[in-house]
Amino acid sequence: MSGYDLRTVKAMQDAGLVAEVRFGGGFCSQRRVQLTPDQVIGYLDQGLDYVLRLQGIEPDEFEEWQQADGRALCMETLKNGKLCGNQVASQCSLDDWKRLHRNEYCRTHGG
Ligand SMILES: [Zn+2]
Repeated sequence: MSGYDLRTVKAMQDAGLVAEVRFGGGFCSQRRVQLTPDQVIGYLDQGLDYVLRLQGIEPDEFEEWQQADGRALCMETLKNGKLCGNQVASQCSLDDWKRLHRNEYCRTHGG
């Protein structure tokens, strides 16, 4: 059970108050999501992870993408067993990053 009061949140939205969450930013454009009263309660209880999942984003991959500043890296494994640190693309949107990161080769490795 949530300790928050859905009735109050509904009344606030009926009165024209908008509940908007923003995330991302920095190297990419911010995403804005408007929440329904039920979603406001979910957000208050569970935090940003809840909103990310609403958007079809796994919190872990969001974290990794943020930490990489949107840089997608090469998929080549080097002789020393480490992954190549060269970038394939920078400042990617999350969708582009998911498509490119460790799925393409850099110029050195034939990309
Ligand atoms: Zn490479």
